[in-house]
Amino acid sequence: MSTLPILRWPDPRLSVICSPVGEISRDVDVLAQNLLDTMYEANGRGLAAPQVGQMRRLFVMDASWKEGRPDPQVFVDPKILEVSEERASSSEGCLSIPGILAEVRRPAKVKLVWTALSGSELTQSFDGFAAICIQHELDHLNGIVTFDRLKGARRERAEAEYKALS
Ligand code: ZN
Repeated sequence: MSTLPILRWPDPRLSVICSPVGEISRDVDVLAQNLLDTMYEANGRGLAAPQVGQMRRLFVMDASWKEGRPDPQVFVDPKILEVSEERASSSEGCLSIPGILAEVRRPAKVKLVWTALSGSELTQSFDGFAAICIQHELDHLNGIVTFDRLKGARRERAEAEYKALS
């Protein structure tokens, strides 16, 4: 069990498209555990491998531990199969952009396929916070952060607010 330093925007590694993991080897297991440890220590609900400088398509999520129901989940090589037409706006925080909440609009529900640490392929539909968190973390695997989801003046304001904090 160990925690890793979290990269902060605008570290260029946060803008890279990550590579597929493929076969689950021992180092993937270790990375997943370290991501979970790092996420909990940073008081987050989701963390993607590129946020600790590992450019691989893997993220972790625990949507309910803050409500006293720990549910650690590991998603390897995740792909969205379907999104709902219904959209939801949420204030999204990011461990790589501490102190900033960005209002992002996304599909309210997603159907995801991914590889579990056991090596089996899983498919599940998600809604609520989990659906938003999954899309946020998947964005990281594609080199996208919340600022990239804001347009024009809203992005400028959010970036200025972040720079004023750092
Ligand atoms: Zn993030």
